[in-house]
Amino acid sequence: MTYNVLEFMKQFPDDDTCLEHLFVTRFGNVGEVACPKCGEIGKFKRLRKLPAYTCNCGHHIHPMKDTPFERSTTPLQKWFYAIYLFTTSRHGVSAKELQRQLGVTYKTAWRIGHEIRKYMSMIDGDNGLSGTVEVDETYIGGKRKGTHIHVSGKHMAKYLGEFEYRYNMRKTPELMFFRLLASF
Ligand SMILES: [Zn+2]
Repeated sequence: MTYNVLEFMKQFPDDDTCLEHLFVTRFGNVGEVACPKCGEIGKFKRLRKLPAYTCNCGHHIHPMKDTPFERSTTPLQKWFYAIYLFTTSRHGVSAKELQRQLGVTYKTAWRIGHEIRKYMSMIDGDNGLSGTVEVDETYIGGKRKGTHIHVSGKHMAKYLGEFEYRYNMRKTPELMFFRLLASF
């Protein structure tokens, strides 16, 4: 069965679950991680007032540090949902669509899309396409019939990166979401 929105909601019902996912992905299971400061194992607990974990010795781990979410005020679950939308739609998601689905401003939606594309191309950075790639306008920016969306050279690389990511994952599209979420 393919991963759908109900399963997404079950797996990531809130921001805390998403934060724990980041922790586990980046540092290991909360109950098994050795503290880099005191060396004790499995002493990390969630801080109530910060999106962070603390060891008994006072050492903090911030799971969002060095990820696209680090400086964002958008709740983590919305980011995860945006990634879900990107990896389950065939041609990517426009900023307008993200704005509607996430209930954020257009500016925020644009930035989220921009970061996710950047992330997709980063992951596929070493695995370039060879030969000529034709990218049609349907792909770039999710064109509607008769509408052309201009993508400036500055952003083209990220669109191509997203395209490459999709291309490389074309045989296992259902794994796109997990692969992206497992690589922070
Ligand atoms: Zn410690």
